[in-house]
Amino acid sequence: LFDDQQAEWELDAQQQRRVASIVIASGPDGAFDYDTPEGFCDAERPDRLLVPGKRVSVPFGRGNRLATGYCVAVETKSVDPSRLKPLARVLDAESLLSPAMLRLTRWMAEYYLCPWGQVLEAVVPAGVRSQAGTRQVKLLHVPPDVKARLGEIKLRSKQQAAALKKLATSDRPLTATELAKEARCTTGPVQQLLKHGLIEATAARVVNNPLDELIPDREQPLELNSDQQKALDATVAALDAGKSRGLLLHGVTGSGKTEVYLQAIEHVVSFGRQAIVLVPEISLTPQTVRRFRARFDSIAVLHSHLSNVERHLHWQKIARGEVQVIVGARSAVFAPTPHLGLIVIDEEHESTFKQDSAPRYQARDVAWQRATAEGIPLMLGSATPSLEAWQRAQDDPQFELLSLPKRVLDRPMPDVLNINLRDPGQAKFGKGGISRQLHQAMQVALRDQGQIILLLNRRGYSTHIQCPGCGFALKCKECEISLTYHRQHNAALCHYCDHEEPPPKVCPDCRSPAIRYSGQGTQKLEDEISSRFPQHTVVRMDTDSMRKHGSHEEVLSRFRAGEIDILLGTQMIAKGLDFPNVTLVGVVNADTALHLTDFRAAERTFQLVAQVAGRTGRGSKGGRVLVQTLQPEHPAIAAAARHDYLGFAAAELASREMLQYPPFGSMARIVVRGPDEEITRATAEQLADRVRKAARELEGATLAVRVLGPCPAPITKLRNEFRFHMQFQSATIEPIQLALRSATKSFRAPAKVRWIVDIDPWDM
Ligand code: ADP
Ligand code: ZN
Ligand code: ZN
Repeated sequence: LFDDQQAEWELDAQQQRRVASIVIASGPDGAFDYDTPEGFCDAERPDRLLVPGKRVSVPFGRGNRLATGYCVAVETKSVDPSRLKPLARVLDAESLLSPAMLRLTRWMAEYYLCPWGQVLEAVVPAGVRSQAGTRQVKLLHVPPDVKARLGEIKLRSKQQAAALKKLATSDRPLTATELAKEARCTTGPVQQLLKHGLIEATAARVVNNPLDELIPDREQPLELNSDQQKALDATVAALDAGKSRGLLLHGVTGSGKTEVYLQAIEHVVSFGRQAIVLVPEISLTPQTVRRFRARFDSIAVLHSHLSNVERHLHWQKIARGEVQVIVGARSAVFAPTPHLGLIVIDEEHESTFKQDSAPRYQARDVAWQRATAEGIPLMLGSATPSLEAWQRAQDDPQFELLSLPKRVLDRPMPDVLNINLRDPGQAKFGKGGISRQLHQAMQVALRDQGQIILLLNRRGYSTHIQCPGCGFALKCKECEISLTYHRQHNAALCHYCDHEEPPPKVCPDCRSPAIRYSGQGTQKLEDEISSRFPQHTVVRMDTDSMRKHGSHEEVLSRFRAGEIDILLGTQMIAKGLDFPNVTLVGVVNADTALHLTDFRAAERTFQLVAQVAGRTGRGSKGGRVLVQTLQPEHPAIAAAARHDYLGFAAAELASREMLQYPPFGSMARIVVRGPDEEITRATAEQLADRVRKAARELEGATLAVRVLGPCPAPITKLRNEFRFHMQFQSATIEPIQLALRSATKSFRAPAKVRWIVDIDPWDM
């Protein structure tokens, strides 16, 4: 009897309420329930209406201080309202995230083990959150009860009556000034109406300055060759099927992939949908961006130099469906398009699609998730596909491989010659690391009015400062990293933390004056090339020389115009450029990436050499490539010289399969860092033990998770913090996620020790 009574009593307290699930922006993972006061369900007040995707202000945590959260659901539930805190305020007039985008962010939070609120904050740009570029105005409207009895209201003031009538019949809310103007009165009568409650004001935001963008001359689509046509037909078929489908467009450099994207997107746009195009880095792809602008009426280019105001305005235009094509770097995958039709990822193999701060997402995988949810195709394009995408195109029935095996207009692939730097006959002559053969090829190219691209993937002047006497090597005081000598600043710089010190003239340890500056960077190469070819214009392109916004574009347009004969630089010159007059590409040192401890070292080397080789032979003059290496027989370098992606992929996949590396297994990584080496190491060991234990508790042998480490990370010390890492391997990612989630759930690291989880890590 007592139990029944108790239950009944509890039931009494239950009420049907609208309950909002709120994710706290910088709070723990998961959503919290809040009660919604009446006003937040009022359809007459759309700015206060609580719908999923708006931000709210809610009391949270100790002291019930107000925190910002995202509303992710509103449901009618029977609850005891006294047990729920009411939410305080709705912050956004319009929803920032569609239900589909909310689901995508939830997926990211779960997949990448990142608090949901942190994902939401990363997906909605800061400029949108702060509503940059808008100003607060008061918008007037006639409340519904006044509207209902409008005929009965008698006003003595004619002006007030006129203003009230105007506002009641207006199809949009007006500001006081606008209303006064419409009613041909001053704002005085309007204020009187407000005072008497006959009209109401709500705060709203309006845009200050519209976007203003350069639009190039219109260009017509090119006539496709038969391979391009086949790829386009398959893409159009996938678009028309209205299902999600992965399309890997493997096209050799210069095969006209971009033209396929453009025409596929024309199809998407023709039925009123939008397309998102992800490119590795906007500033490095001005040509691609220009081609998109020349083909479509309305495109939004989301690059990293946008102001908050511009970002916000683009976001709004995109959300209103006014933009046909969005071109941007990785975060453009979150563009709030109302009717997305296609996502394209150009140069899908590039590392920039992986974000290296939380949420550590891979845009390619997020794009696939989004494409699946929205039932649309995802097109991945590359001359050197990532092995993940390649393997998937082979054995995932939802993926399809489209090939462009030849360059456009029957242009041949350039000849690639590997120069063995171990061979004394080929040895470098003079300092600066240019072999006799490369030097001669440069002379010939310049004599024939061709242009040259030289790749050296190390910036600075000398990459090592060492004492041959005592073995001393100059390293950053805060990081375990060799300092690089930069001649411009006459300083030894740390490339990781920007620490800078005067370059030593004698060995700091043994005072020997024989201290040596060795290892060649782009600055030394620039010196060397300028002195070898004094009659020619040499320009260096690396992050040091390209700090100013717009400097890439300037250099690239000068290069295009023929004002620069030799363009040398780091990998930023290896990407996507299309200059018909480049007849020689020189890779000064192909081995820089081979030393990496990363299991992708060979893949990266192949990609870098094949991509830079692709920058030549794009015009009628043809082109050749010389690759300097100490390991010409290395499979990655040998295959790149033969333009043999298929051969490289087959060999590399076989070795990955043996070692259970991606794409044949999944990986994750934890990095622990802290100022005290021993405490940091102990914390890493504790975490590893917890993961091992959690993994053991997972049932079934198929779920085995291998834990490697902890051990010092490849970068053992950074900014005065010691770093330890551990890696996790398993056949699929799920058991790793399960083990990590349970191991880290209530884990508290000692003060000052931090740790991050990286799912599907890219840099080891
Ligand atoms: P990729 O992206 O595969 O390296 P691009 O799309 O940049 O190649 O094309 C290389 C060049 O070939 C561009 O200048 C482009 O205008 C041109 N091109 C593309 N398709 C055709 C075609 N069907 N006929 C003639 N030229 C083409
Ligand atoms: Zn010394
Ligand atoms: Zn440093």
